[in-house]
Amino acid sequence: MAIKYIPEPFRIKAVEPIRVLSADERSRKIQEANFNLFYLRSEDCYIDLLTDSGTNAMSQSQWAGVVRGDEAYAGASSYFKLIEAGQDIFGHAYIQPVHQGRAGEKVLFPLLLKKGQVAISNMFFDTTRAHVELAGARCVDCVVEDAKHPSRRVRFKGNMDISKLERAIAEHGAQNVGLIVITITNNSAGGQPVSIQNIREVAAVARRYGIPVNIDAARYAENAFFIQRDEPEFQNKSIKEIVREMFRYGDTFTMSAKKDAIVNMGGLIGVKEAESPLVLKIKANCISYEGFYTYGGLAGRDLEALSIGLYEGVDENYLRYRIGQVEYLASRLDDAGIAYQSPVGGHGVFVDAAALFPQIPYHEFPGQVLAVELYREAGIRTCDIGSYMLGNHPDTGEQLRADFEFTRLAIPRRVYTQAHVDLMADALIEVKQRAASITRGYRIKWEPPILRHFQAHLELAR
Ligand SMILES: *Cc1c(COP(=O)(O)O)cnc(C)c1O
Repeated sequence: MAIKYIPEPFRIKAVEPIRVLSADERSRKIQEANFNLFYLRSEDCYIDLLTDSGTNAMSQSQWAGVVRGDEAYAGASSYFKLIEAGQDIFGHAYIQPVHQGRAGEKVLFPLLLKKGQVAISNMFFDTTRAHVELAGARCVDCVVEDAKHPSRRVRFKGNMDISKLERAIAEHGAQNVGLIVITITNNSAGGQPVSIQNIREVAAVARRYGIPVNIDAARYAENAFFIQRDEPEFQNKSIKEIVREMFRYGDTFTMSAKKDAIVNMGGLIGVKEAESPLVLKIKANCISYEGFYTYGGLAGRDLEALSIGLYEGVDENYLRYRIGQVEYLASRLDDAGIAYQSPVGGHGVFVDAAALFPQIPYHEFPGQVLAVELYREAGIRTCDIGSYMLGNHPDTGEQLRADFEFTRLAIPRRVYTQAHVDLMADALIEVKQRAASITRGYRIKWEPPILRHFQAHLELAR
C-alpha cells in the first residue's frame, strides 16, 4: 500500500499554466527532437523532471527579496546578508558567492590540485569530475559496493568505502592525492545520503595523511534530513545542528545553490578557517572569472533570494514534505513492482530501466528508452543516467558500460502536487505493462566529442 502523501506546507499564490499535447503531437515532437529530450521545448512538456537544478519555486519572502536586492557593484547589503547566512548555517568563516556550482569548482580546484595528482570521492558529479580533470588531476570514485545494487535496501548508500579509500591512497601515494571530495547527497548514485559517521571516518583518514577535504554540498539539507531520521545519535538534533556538524569536517565546500538552497541560480564556496591562505587566492580567481568577490557573478537580487533560500532549505516541515513526496512516488512504484535505486534518495526516483527492459542491451540505452516512452505516454520529461550519458572511452572511442541504467525522475522543489506525482506513477505503470513489446533501443546518429547526452541525435537501433 502506498504511504500517505504529506500535504504541502504552503499554498499557491502565483500559477504557471501547463498543457499536455495529444499523443500524436508528443510522438512527432520526440521524433523531431532526435529522441533527445534536451531538444524538447519546455512548453511541450507537461511535467518536467529533467532536473531538480534551478527548477525550484521560490517563496513569497524570496520574491520580496528580489525587489529588495541591492545592486551595488561592491559591498551590497545583499552580499553581507548572504555572508551572514552562510556563516551561520555552515560555520565556515569565509563564504564566497559564485554563479553556480561548477563556477565554484572552477575557482577553487586549480588552487588545490596539481597536474598528475588524483582526487578521491564517494562519487564525482560530472562537472566536478570535469573540473578536477581541467586542473590536470584524475578522479577516483570509492563509493560503497551497495550503491551499485539498486535492490539492496541499506541505509546511507552514498557513503565512501573507507577501505577502498585507504587502498586508493596507498596505491597513488598520499603526496599525490590532492583532495578528497565528499559529495552530499551522492547525486550520481541516486541522491543517496552520506552518514556523519562516514564523514568522520573519511575526515580522520584525510587528517592522518594531511589531505584536504572539500564537501560538494548541493543537497546539504536533504542529507541532514536523512541523518536526523536514520542515524540514532542525531534523532534529537535539529537539521541546523546536523548541517553544522557535517560541515565541521570540510576544510572547504563548493555548493550548487540551485538545489537545496531553493533558488534558480547561484552557488557558494566556503573556507572553514578565516586565516587560510586560500581566501586571497579565491578572491583573485573569482575576480578573474566570476566578477568582484562581493557579487561573484550574481545580481544583487540573486544574492538576496539565496540568503533567504539557505534558511528555507533547512526548515524541518519543508524537508519532511520534500522527502515525503519522493518517498510517496517510490512507494507507488513498490506497489507496482517497478524497481528503482532503493531505498529512494532525496531528490528523485532513479528507475532501474535495465530491469524494466531486460531485452534491451546497454549499448541501446534502456534508460533513454524509458525516458522516451514516458514522454510519449504522458508528456513527462526525464533523462537517462546510464550508458547513454556515460559516453565513449576517451582513447578507444568504444561505448562504455555504466554501472546502472537509470531513468531519473528528478523532482523540482515545491513545484508539483500529489496529482502530478500520481500521474508520474501511473505513466510508469502504463509503460511497464507494454515494456515487453518494446524490442528496439536507440543508436547514436550524431554525437559531439564530450558530454554528448545534451546534444546527441539518436535513431531507432536495428
Ligand atoms: C549540480 C551539481 C554540481 C554542479 O552545480 P551547477 O550549479 O549545476 O553548476 C556539482 N555537484 C553536485 C553534486 C551537483 O548536484
